[in-house]
Amino acid sequence: MYNQFSKELDHLNIDYSRDVPMKEHTSFKIGGNAEFFITAKTTDELKAVISLCRENNIPYMLIGNGSNLLISDEGIKGAVIRLEGDFKNIIVNGDEIVAGAGASLTKLCLDAYKASLTGLEFGYGIPGSVGGAAYMNAGAYGGEMKDVIVSCTHLDKDLNIGTFALDELDLSYRHSAYMKDEYIILSVNLKLKKGDSTSIKARMDELMQKRMDKQPLEYPSAGSVFKRPEGAFAAALIEECGLKGRAVGGAVVSEKHSGFIVNKGGATCKDVLDLVKIVQDEVKEKTGFELHREIIHI
Ligand SMILES: Cc1cc2nc3c(=O)[nH]c(=O)nc-3n(C[C@H](O)[C@H](O)[C@H](O)COP(=O)(O)OP(=O)(O)OC[C@H]3O[C@@H](n4cnc5c(N)ncnc54)[C@H](O)[C@@H]3O)c2cc1C
Repeated sequence: MYNQFSKELDHLNIDYSRDVPMKEHTSFKIGGNAEFFITAKTTDELKAVISLCRENNIPYMLIGNGSNLLISDEGIKGAVIRLEGDFKNIIVNGDEIVAGAGASLTKLCLDAYKASLTGLEFGYGIPGSVGGAAYMNAGAYGGEMKDVIVSCTHLDKDLNIGTFALDELDLSYRHSAYMKDEYIILSVNLKLKKGDSTSIKARMDELMQKRMDKQPLEYPSAGSVFKRPEGAFAAALIEECGLKGRAVGGAVVSEKHSGFIVNKGGATCKDVLDLVKIVQDEVKEKTGFELHREIIHI
């Protein structure tokens, strides 16, 4: 089955590798092998890859930059697909931008700044792709993707191209309509405002400095592990419970930002999951708050 699948990918000239360690493709540096790691450079290639996966009964999943993922130590059966090539294009037209889902969010923020467009400063330094940021409704420092997205173009499960306007995207805290069904975001349409490039750059630098001061960027992680519970902050609750520095194997609750779990070397997915459980149980017992995971475990 796999040989036939490989042959068909070769025949279509689609780039792929076999048995790829997912720790090389996630910011956590954790995860076993993906049986196939495929890059799609155009929408036609993407459709062809998905059709081939379905015909050959190969399960598949899409990743962006892998910055919100905790991949299992056993790896991923089937194919991991990443968007490259045309999906990295960013086109600025007046105060509107069309960004490919595979583009880096930080590059998008820089392009907006270069065009003197304000509204995306919050996203500078979030290490995701544009598609991943729309899927997660990524946000920081009072801003979120919801504030700047006009619509998203996607591939639905019947491989038709469609568009969701902002009201259909159902964007809320780390949530989008794309979580409910099988969609692949192809591109994101944004509307920003004309601004002053010096102030835009100053705000971006200020927020980047805050990230460097507050976040343990020297270690691999997937950012904040838990969603913000109603009426409290996850990091403050974790600190209050004395959990800073608590470790399981190579996974450690960061001393610098207790909302982060960092990989201090050789952490496994199991280490992280066990530590997550310890944190959830102790926080619940001592404060009554339930912490829910923001990072996605696959
Ligand atoms: C140091 C650090 C700091 C961070 N700071 C922040 C922050 O301030 N705010 C914040 O919100 N997040 C933050 N994050 C988390 C992460 O960067 C965001 O959630 C980001 O939006 C994830 O994008 P990604 O491309 O890496 O997606 P991935 O992690 O690769 O995937 C996340 C989910 O999105 C889906 N997905 C990705 N692309 C597509 C697509 N094109 N179509 C459909 N589904 C898709 C995947 O299937 C997966 O389910 C941080 C992470 C790190 C490591």
